[in-house]
Amino acid sequence: MTTHYASTRGGQQGVSASQAILQGLASDGGLFVPEVFPEIALDFDKLKEQSYQEIALLIMKAFYSDFSEKELIACIEAAYDDKFDTPTIAPVKKVGTDYYLELFHGPTLAFKDMALSILPYLMTTAAKKNQSTNELVILTATSGDTGKAAMEGFADVENTKIIVFYPKEGVSKIQEQQMRTQKGDNTFVVAVNGNFDDAQTRVKEMFNDTTLRDELAANQKQFSSANSINIGRLIPQVVYYVYAYAQLVKENELKNGQVMDISVPTGNFGNILAGYYAKKLGVPIGKLVCASNQNNVLTDFFTNGTYDRNREFYVTSSPSMDILISSNLERLLYEVSNQSATVTKQLMDDLTTKGSYALDDTLRKGLADFLVAYATDEQTQDAIQRVFDQERYVIDPHTAVAKHALDQMTQLENPALIVSTASPYKFPESVVRAFDEVKQVENEFGWVTSLYEETHLTIPPAVKTLFESPILHDRVIPVDDMLACVKEILNLD
Ligand SMILES: *Cc1c(COP(=O)(O)O)cnc(C)c1O
Repeated sequence: MTTHYASTRGGQQGVSASQAILQGLASDGGLFVPEVFPEIALDFDKLKEQSYQEIALLIMKAFYSDFSEKELIACIEAAYDDKFDTPTIAPVKKVGTDYYLELFHGPTLAFKDMALSILPYLMTTAAKKNQSTNELVILTATSGDTGKAAMEGFADVENTKIIVFYPKEGVSKIQEQQMRTQKGDNTFVVAVNGNFDDAQTRVKEMFNDTTLRDELAANQKQFSSANSINIGRLIPQVVYYVYAYAQLVKENELKNGQVMDISVPTGNFGNILAGYYAKKLGVPIGKLVCASNQNNVLTDFFTNGTYDRNREFYVTSSPSMDILISSNLERLLYEVSNQSATVTKQLMDDLTTKGSYALDDTLRKGLADFLVAYATDEQTQDAIQRVFDQERYVIDPHTAVAKHALDQMTQLENPALIVSTASPYKFPESVVRAFDEVKQVENEFGWVTSLYEETHLTIPPAVKTLFESPILHDRVIPVDDMLACVKEILNLD
């Protein structure tokens, strides 16, 4: 069976997986979705004996059907190797009565590595398949984790450049240090004076700018996206839900077929959407808890059916979720409208023109699998402290948001999987603050040592060397200069 992709807004159809990955965003501004959702036989008594890589192949074969098995195996083996610090890639830990799916064992210590370690291989393979000799320019806005993970993946990959924009005041010190020390002649990191949404909006405008597109083409270049709008990021994220369920069956924590609920710390809605896709494929997932921080636009949306981005933006202790426009929600709208591009396009047009849209009752019924809650920074700290006091298990602020949200759902009775998206060492200051509110340290690395002193959790090697690495990127620009900056980097005009 061949899986073709279409734009959620109806402007493109019959697109192959490799073309969709290369293109990133559809030409009408929509997102690529499978025209017919593939069916995969999931036999967990068999899957429980399979490796992460084998399960990845099973899922990707169905969604990326124009790649050969040989090509996919090459991509998977190059991505999921010893740059992860555990051979299981995504371990599941039992902590008290909860299960944590640890997605932070890759090189940049956050779950973005799960997809971004494979995306460069998928993209360069896709370029070869489509006889494209253009230089691929990866243009990305990041709330902190995507940018680093994408650069790590694309650094020195032939015939590619990667340009990353991040909000100057909107990322953690560790995240900023990680980005500013990025090596690779083809990597460019730029801080902007604005928030993530400002940066993401400008990046989307550049993708939709036909004059710019023509100018790039004339220079043998083309844009692609490493953001979670790219179907090349979404599908690799489906893999770990299948793998996690198989592991829980293997460990006799779940009977084959028994339903589990999941709680996902959510920003751009990519991770939780992958969980929804996994459920559609047949993984016995019950409720999906969409956990937000103080930027609780999704909590309101699922509660009252109106998405309204006209609201205050907060900088929180879980910065990778400081987002008011959750791009991947568009793919869910497409699903709940029975794959109607007309309905989806109308809603997205409303969002552009009015900054809000409202679902009717029929559409709202489609959201029943989702439960929502949000955590303030104080509740996030409490969750970190509580889990450590009770279970001696350390969680980062993003994961703590998901734990807090899950604990609000007293009506749920199934075993629950909390998706753990970052190493506590990526946000050491916030984690230490949960234990010691008045702690002072001399420099940024002081937070790392105090986290070790508080918890005795092993410090990942990538953090140890971070503050000894030279700063290689120091540009800071106003949001309005992003286009000019891209042109300058690419020597256009
Ligand atoms: C990106 C990120 C999230 C949010 O994931 P989405 O797919 O954008 O919803 C949560 N936690 C961490 C640590 C992240 O890096």
